[in-house]
Amino acid sequence: VKNYLAQIEINTHLNAFNEVFADEALARAVETDAKLKAGTAGKLAGMVISIKDNILYKGHKATASSKILDNYTAIYSSTIVERLLAEDAIIIGRCNCDEFAMGASNESSYYGVVKNHADESRVPGGSSGGSAVSVQAGMCHAAIGTDTGGSVRQPASFCGMIGFKPTYGRISRHGIIAYASSFDQVGSITHSVEDAALLLEIMAGTDAYDSTLSKQAIPAYSTELKTTTSPKKVAYLREAVERPGLDPQIKDALLKTIADLKAAGNIVEPVSFEYLDYVVPTYYILTMAEASSNLARYDGVHYGYRSPKAVDMMSTYKLSRSEGFGVEVKRRIMLGTFILSAGYYDAYYTKAQKMRRLIREKTEEILNKYDFILTPTAPEPAFKIGREEKDPVVSYLADIFTVQASLSGMPAISLPVKNTTGLPFGLQLVAKRFDEQELLNFSKNF
Ligand code: GLN
Repeated sequence: VKNYLAQIEINTHLNAFNEVFADEALARAVETDAKLKAGTAGKLAGMVISIKDNILYKGHKATASSKILDNYTAIYSSTIVERLLAEDAIIIGRCNCDEFAMGASNESSYYGVVKNHADESRVPGGSSGGSAVSVQAGMCHAAIGTDTGGSVRQPASFCGMIGFKPTYGRISRHGIIAYASSFDQVGSITHSVEDAALLLEIMAGTDAYDSTLSKQAIPAYSTELKTTTSPKKVAYLREAVERPGLDPQIKDALLKTIADLKAAGNIVEPVSFEYLDYVVPTYYILTMAEASSNLARYDGVHYGYRSPKAVDMMSTYKLSRSEGFGVEVKRRIMLGTFILSAGYYDAYYTKAQKMRRLIREKTEEILNKYDFILTPTAPEPAFKIGREEKDPVVSYLADIFTVQASLSGMPAISLPVKNTTGLPFGLQLVAKRFDEQELLNFSKNF
């Protein structure tokens, strides 16, 4: 803990943490030490982790990096925090992220952008940008983030870490600040597949507070973890490889990985995924609709920020929300409200739901024939902080490879490509629902 606290001190300028729980972490380290001596320590004893600032931890602030929650203290802990603590994990702090997890660069945070440790002029990715940097810069052992459309996988790619999003319905969302509930999923950012397996094992499973969870048995992921020795069938998307705008270095790495996997005896084949152009619009229509509904609770009355200029009920709502939310969050609330409005519901929301079903069915069809789908995690490596995007759609398109798994609820992992020159980036593997064990095992071959 002392070592990590020293690293946090050295790297304050990276802005990865919204708050560090130094005294508490040190005290827990002493307790853990005693438990280790007594032989009563849990499976995570000694593991120092950071949590994204949209995960509730009783008695600690939880802001989702928004001004509207700047003064909010959690009155209960999320199920995952309880499970991590029960196994003696040490939570060292809460990490910066895009406001309400909306973004892919960590630039929409009320607390400012996070810097990528590999190149401080560049973004760490997002929305779990602070989480990725907390691991990348050695400020903790592992990070817990959330992934709605790539928020664990894409920052892991930008920072050269492993980013893992399990199947939708595998990990409880109780106590996670909601963005788009039918997509939100807890995930991990780690240095090793072993850590990802262990953290999944601890966090997965049913919870009386989250009715969307699967009752499927939880394998002992960490003890069952072993390098895959039998050949696997891997599909890659023709449209992804041929996509204009795919960074040449990433394309080369993808082609090299395909060749390496073939040379190792796996069957690797191109498949057509004709819906690739539709995944981003479908994802954004549905997540904005869900976000507009989820964020209605920030009304200046129940909790969070209330405008000092408010004089009556309407001005409390209007001013608190106008002053409390940032630009990107407001854009999404307004678009989401429009999408759900009586006159446009069928044209946008219903249409996108139909599209989601087609995308899921096509993805299932591919995964009925193949064990995994291989894609880049993102079209490019980390870009410069402040790159002006006049059109937000350009930023949204950066999610093109991650949202397929989110729309179809599949588990997916971003694995760093070993490149000694240049910026870090990752490749993504997607597996069948609840096939995390196979996915993690195969990831060990990378
Ligand atoms: N970039 C995507 C978005 O802004 C993904 C965010 C996420 O996974 N939380 O919605």
